[in-house]
Amino acid sequence: MPIVSPEKDFEKIAAKLVCESCGNGFDCGANVGECWCFEVEVTPEILTELREKYKNCLCAKCLPVYPKKTLD
Ligand SMILES: [Zn+2]
Ligand SMILES: [Zn+2]
Repeated sequence: MPIVSPEKDFEKIAAKLVCESCGNGFDCGANVGECWCFEVEVTPEILTELREKYKNCLCAKCLPVYPKKTLD
């Protein structure tokens, strides 16, 4: 096994995206099936809404608070 830091590896494969909600840049690995956003718990309803509203997933700041904002 080659010694590669997980962070470096992630940066190599992750897409550089701009959050459509706040405009901040962030990395998303959804295109390679490995992303922190998979760990964020959202209901299927919220997920559908997000897909309709945004082309890509949101940044680590916006995605976790999105369900709370909507359900408030
Ligand atoms: Zn954001
Ligand atoms: Zn993502």
